[in-house]
Amino acid sequence: MIIFGTRQEELDLGPVHPQDCEVCNKADQPFRLRLVYRYDHVWFVLGHVRALSYVIVCGDCGTPFRIPRAAGRKLGRLAREPIPLLRRYGCLLVFSAFVLIAGLAAVLGY
Ligand SMILES: [Zn+2]
Repeated sequence: MIIFGTRQEELDLGPVHPQDCEVCNKADQPFRLRLVYRYDHVWFVLGHVRALSYVIVCGDCGTPFRIPRAAGRKLGRLAREPIPLLRRYGCLLVFSAFVLIAGLAAVLGY
């Protein structure tokens, strides 16, 4: 039985510089950087990321503010996306394996 689905995950990437919050109208609030992403999965292990965004979240009111991807990576001092490999490319790996097996079967005449 094959299990398909879509899930959303959130990774906490640590604190960022205190900033003013427009929602709770307080100065120098603690903020945290988070990566929010949605992915399709097969058997909950093999994934394909559909959408991702970096947000900074006010520590007082919890309001998330979306920031550009490049700014998020720079704020988090990330060399690459912190999403696990099988969540990012798991479905692509399985699809590539099927294509490879079908190609080998065609070449070998099975
Ligand atoms: Zn706030």
